[in-house]
Amino acid sequence: MTPEPKYIILLGPPGSGKGTQAAELKEMLNLPHVSSGDLFRHNINNKTALGLKAKTYIDQGELVPDAITIAMVMDRLSQPDCQKGALLDGFPRTLAQAEALDKALSEQGHKIEKVPLINVPQEVVIERLSGRLICRKCQATFHKIYNPFETCPQHQCQGEYLYQREDDKPETVRSRLEVYWEQTSPLINYYREQGVLVEIDGNQPMEEVTADLRAAI
Ligand code: AMP
Repeated sequence: MTPEPKYIILLGPPGSGKGTQAAELKEMLNLPHVSSGDLFRHNINNKTALGLKAKTYIDQGELVPDAITIAMVMDRLSQPDCQKGALLDGFPRTLAQAEALDKALSEQGHKIEKVPLINVPQEVVIERLSGRLICRKCQATFHKIYNPFETCPQHQCQGEYLYQREDDKPETVRSRLEVYWEQTSPLINYYREQGVLVEIDGNQPMEEVTADLRAAI
């Protein structure tokens, strides 16, 4: 008998470490890491129609409209490797997205198992995002001060692949945080009422956050 698929959603403000933690947890959980931000960036890099449309919103720190986002993520979740579930990062970000996901899962007799909320104070998030560097090849993240690789160790690229995301510039970081509080934070209560929310202190060393997440999941 195939085991029930497992759906876990990592919730938290931009810069709370969702992507980093997902990369750590996906092996333990044996689940694909589905990051809506990575899916958009992949489309942008490949200059697809979806990518071109999404880029105008992303560069402003705004959310991409629900219809586009929901269709993109649902398409990803319908792929064979997601038959066992998914570790979702960055989706859902609005109530409409959360409801669409619940509906799609319940139509297949599935449900969300856990929603860890990674709590990090606002000033820490701003500091993390504004120093963040990403490897264009493998999406690994570094920090100008806290994790200052000059080159991605996996690629020995002498730094040529490391870049600062356009939306990690200070003005855009501010609007992304406003968007989080206005549009995404209502999901905290939404999942609390469903009894699946678990709160995690994200303002600790990375390994401790991972350990708390493992224990919670
Ligand atoms: P992230 O890498 O998760 O920080 O996402 C980067 C950007 O992609 C966000 O600031 C949004 O512009 C867009 N994005 C990612 N996920 C979503 C989503 N679920 N709904 C709408 N826009 C999204």
